[in-house]
Amino acid sequence: MPIGYWESEHLLAPADLTVIGSGIVGMSTALHYKAIHPARRVRILERDVLGEGGTTRNAGFACFGGPGEWLDDLECLGQTRWLNLIRMRAEGLRALIELLGVEALGLEWSGGWELFDRTEAGMARAEKVHDALPHLNGAVQPLMASVLGHLAPHPTSTPALVYSPERAAHFGAHASVHLPWEGMLHTGRMVSAFHKAMQVADVQCLNGCTASAVDATDRPFVPWSIATPRGPMLSTNVAICTNGFAKGLLPGAKVNPAPNRVLVVRPRTAPPKGAYHIEDGYLYFRTLPDGQVLFGGGRHFGVELPHFPDRDPQAEARWDSLLESAAERWLGTIETVSHRWTGWLGVGEDREPLLGTTAPGLHHAVRMGGMGVAMGCGIGLKLAQTIASEAHREPLR
Ligand SMILES: Cc1cc2nc3c(=O)[nH]c(=O)nc-3n(C[C@H](O)[C@H](O)[C@H](O)COP(=O)(O)OP(=O)(O)OC[C@H]3O[C@@H](n4cnc5c(N)ncnc54)[C@H](O)[C@@H]3O)c2cc1C
Repeated sequence: MPIGYWESEHLLAPADLTVIGSGIVGMSTALHYKAIHPARRVRILERDVLGEGGTTRNAGFACFGGPGEWLDDLECLGQTRWLNLIRMRAEGLRALIELLGVEALGLEWSGGWELFDRTEAGMARAEKVHDALPHLNGAVQPLMASVLGHLAPHPTSTPALVYSPERAAHFGAHASVHLPWEGMLHTGRMVSAFHKAMQVADVQCLNGCTASAVDATDRPFVPWSIATPRGPMLSTNVAICTNGFAKGLLPGAKVNPAPNRVLVVRPRTAPPKGAYHIEDGYLYFRTLPDGQVLFGGGRHFGVELPHFPDRDPQAEARWDSLLESAAERWLGTIETVSHRWTGWLGVGEDREPLLGTTAPGLHHAVRMGGMGVAMGCGIGLKLAQTIASEAHREPLR
């Protein structure tokens, strides 16, 4: 469709920053950039009505991982990078709270629990965690206290990990470790709060607008042209925040889309309020305000789903039946399943995110793994600061 006068002169005029993808990372980048440069024009291009990645479809854990998962990360990344990863999650949560507020996020500092089952693997894992607990606590507790101490309601001396025999007994687990710094937020309210903040900050969000390519122009102040169904849109800076879908615009990026299934179930007996991690975080559940329980995960089941947007209802049903069995194992009789959905993660060889600049003004922040709710807003802050600090870029007039 040819672009009209009002569009080229105002509505679709060149932007200072164009963010591609309106997930947590994209929206945070836009808002933080606007906070640094309120007068500059910031545009988000989002291919779906709401967003089709993890941001509207996650479990709402305000979490930093659990000891089982940390042991894997320690082995894979070493102490410094492992702790840095946890720092990114804690700082991300702090940035999210500072940006949108506890109330708007529906954040409750409910605490989390990692449960170890009575299988041979579960007991072996619990044993390893037991041996490593003082080390994990010694490293993570000061970090939590320094990053979140002024926001969380508990004393800064609160440990990162504490044994919880009563939760183990409640769930018939071999062991349970309590994560007092963890919380739960309301994902829907978080996304609404982002939308409201973008309206207030005058961030233009164009939904249903897929960016199919980003090409260099020969114009010094608008060096990037983004191909969209409404024609090319020019921009001084571009931030690619498409997470698991990043390969479309960043062909060499080491990030892949990975599906996660989620059920909302009503158990006959509601579990104690909180967020729970099982099998090193591959399974998780949390209580919901209406007495139901969100139960999800299962990437380790090995059920293949076709790439988005294709679907395979039979494979989804196989995955769901494995999830339902796991839910029955932990929650007892399930009376109803009210919701079933797939959400898409962006994953890679490890759990570290991928941030970078491929050319002046062309940036990306993708691969948030299973913890982008915690991490995403801090990553958006970093990305906005990086873009704003590019001294050679003149603002558009
Ligand atoms: C089931 C599930 C449960 C989860 N639970 C938790 C949790 O409890 N706690 C936690 O911390 N994290 C959790 N996560 C992870 C978290 O949701 C993600 O890491 C986070 O939402 C990623 O945000 P993002 O902005 O990087 O990407 P996304 O939310 O994936 O957003 C990327 C956006 O880019 C858009 N897009 C893609 N390609 C294009 C294009 N070419 N043009 C325009 N737009 C495009 C997509 O439509 C999408 O909206 C969960 C994820 C899933 C799937």
